[in-house]
Amino acid sequence: MTEKPAPTLVWFRNDLRIHDNPALARAAELGGPVCAVYALDERRERPHGDASQWWLHHALLALGKNLDKLGIPLVLRRGDAGQTVPVLAEEIGAGAVVWNRRYTKAGIEQDTEIKSHLKDAGLLAESHNGHLLYEPWTVKTGSGEPYKVFTPFSRAARALGSPERPKPAPTTIKGLESAPESDALDDWGLLPTKPDWSTGLAERWTPGTEGAQARLQTFIRESLAGYPDRRNSPGKEATTLLSPHLKFGEISSRELWHAAEVSNAPRSSVYKFHQELLWREFSYQLLFFNPDLSEENYADKFNRFPWAPTHKQPTKDHLRAWQKGQTGYPIVDAGMRELYATGWMHNRARMIVGSFLVKHLLIDWRHGEEWFWDTLVDADPANNAASWQWVAGSGADAAPYFRIFNPILQGEKFDAAGDYTRHWVPEVAQLPKKYLHKPWEAPDKVLSDAGIILGETYPRPIVDHAEARQRALDAFKSLS
Ligand code: FAD
Repeated sequence: MTEKPAPTLVWFRNDLRIHDNPALARAAELGGPVCAVYALDERRERPHGDASQWWLHHALLALGKNLDKLGIPLVLRRGDAGQTVPVLAEEIGAGAVVWNRRYTKAGIEQDTEIKSHLKDAGLLAESHNGHLLYEPWTVKTGSGEPYKVFTPFSRAARALGSPERPKPAPTTIKGLESAPESDALDDWGLLPTKPDWSTGLAERWTPGTEGAQARLQTFIRESLAGYPDRRNSPGKEATTLLSPHLKFGEISSRELWHAAEVSNAPRSSVYKFHQELLWREFSYQLLFFNPDLSEENYADKFNRFPWAPTHKQPTKDHLRAWQKGQTGYPIVDAGMRELYATGWMHNRARMIVGSFLVKHLLIDWRHGEEWFWDTLVDADPANNAASWQWVAGSGADAAPYFRIFNPILQGEKFDAAGDYTRHWVPEVAQLPKKYLHKPWEAPDKVLSDAGIILGETYPRPIVDHAEARQRALDAFKSLS
């Protein structure tokens, strides 16, 4: 008589989908009954920020439903995953535990420990690539080093050939018959209660794979062709808005790559879109080879940068004004308010508000990184840290220090019609285009016609652009 294969435990992390999930596909291949687990471990990995917690709650509900269709129970366990995962494996008599890889320092350390623990216990412990197009160690310079500059990185990645094609959900898979004990999701307290600030998030997003697929289809149909021209306008929904879905792995970057590849859009649009997906890959390579990327300057010389002291006035007030969208620069405030209300901000606005924090206010990029971590639904350990360092000038292939975005010109160029600013900063909505991005230059009559009393209904600029620019140039020059 042939022995029945032992159960397999699939450990879900940033791959909350059942299709194109190599770990789940492997479990199907192993042939035994499958059980899924999500372990909430706030001790080892950096805990999710508030907005991401909201997303996670809904993403787990959606994953649970999809696994249910395959007959697979999703078990929730809170606590040190180094304990909860092996304990559950033992409980179900698993012969194998499989998962898709993480790339953060804490994640890698924990996975390595758990893998060796499971192997010592005689189990098969396997990890796969479910998160990236090309794993960090596969894209190398001629001398075998990781890249420090994006363009050659992207060329080298493309030279590896088209990423693997996405695979459908397994069809021949069976779930474990008796579901092990699970925490109740509601008991995890991931949703805000007092106050419940999540209305804006719920209005904008549908966490889960179905929401992600719908967005992808709309993007391919309506926006991919015009992506190179329109992706920089925050007032137009011209990008995928898939970043939070990618962060939680409700859709894979392989799917995005291939959906664009097989579309009818002009090849130049597909190329540009693929480049953005490769920026994500580049961030992951930077993170993998610089595990402290969210804490330490990539360029050491920034350790002596004269940042303004945030525990003292007026910097403390400046940081607060930036966080709350009360800087007096409408395009900066629009971005920060979009973030606070919806958990997301357009990439152009992220660059503008980032430059403003770091250069106009001389506030250490790590304060920006932290605020984004807490408020973004797409807060990503690689993209957030790499992008903040890029904006600050301390990162790999970073913006040169003398590139100080002028928030007035940026507003006039990228939100020329003013729709974005008017939507998020209604106090200035009645201003004519000429003054929308610089209300302080408007004559008294124009201000009063627009119902604005500067300093009362809308703040005066918290710093003067020309002075702040000079201060930043001096500070950055002090490093050379
Ligand atoms: P699309 O234009 O549709 O692009 C598709 C995907 O490509 C994105 O979802 C993303 O995964 C990737 N991508 C696009 N642009 C970039 C980029 N510049 N760098 C890296 N990957 C990119 N992105 C995050 O996913 N999480 C973050 O925490 C994050 N923090 C950022 C902080 C700052 C200061 C800045 C300037 C950028 C940050 N980004 C971050 C990058 C970028 O702003 C977002 O990925 C993008 O706005 C997401 O919108 P989208 O999905 O519509 O992008």
